[in-house]
Amino acid sequence: MFTQPGDGAQGRYDANVQHLYQAHTGVGPGGAVPCQVCGSLPAVHAVLRAHQGMFLIMRSRKREGFFCRSCGTSLQRQMTTDTLWQGWWGVMSFFITPVTVLLNLGPRARFRRLAEPYGGWRPPLDPGRRVLARPPALLILTPMTVLALVLGYGITAAALDDGSVASVRAGDCVRNLSTWPDQDLQPVDCASHLAEYRAARLEDCEGDEYLMRLEYAADAEALCLKLLGSG
Ligand SMILES: [Zn+2]
Repeated sequence: MFTQPGDGAQGRYDANVQHLYQAHTGVGPGGAVPCQVCGSLPAVHAVLRAHQGMFLIMRSRKREGFFCRSCGTSLQRQMTTDTLWQGWWGVMSFFITPVTVLLNLGPRARFRRLAEPYGGWRPPLDPGRRVLARPPALLILTPMTVLALVLGYGITAAALDDGSVASVRAGDCVRNLSTWPDQDLQPVDCASHLAEYRAARLEDCEGDEYLMRLEYAADAEALCLKLLGSG
């Protein structure tokens, strides 16, 4: 009942296991299908995946069948771990690998909901350590986490920076955190004692003011900076 055309040796092996199991115990209670690795019940149908990138070529593995809690978890952990260190080495693989890891999370959740396996013809596979506790995951995830944090920090900093830059309109006040002619302008309230310059339109400038760098202008309008208190 498990052998389909093209299933190959694995399919024939599974079918044999199935026959053995049925010879021993008959069909599982309620027509439930037993684990194809150890013959235990209960088992659930699942598709597990692994991906391997090899620069220009790549290979995806798939294992489909009924698995009990222990065998399913064991296979899911092994295939996910393999993917975590073998998966990244290619351009397309770089995108396929995280998808593969995510696709294994569905079966993982279903295995966890199963009761402890019983009645198998051999002991179930040892689930082993969870994926995140295995060396390949630490090897790959630690630099990736650091990279994500650095990128995240960079993007956040850039976004915050962007908020304070490009916001000056004619009439607004700023102070220069740098030394002229460098500009590191910070918008400040005109009533504040920190305010040093008031931005003005070019037609209101007399010609001896500093020209504000365009990147600070809210409307990409050229503005000059009048020293406050100079009129
Ligand atoms: Zn099993």
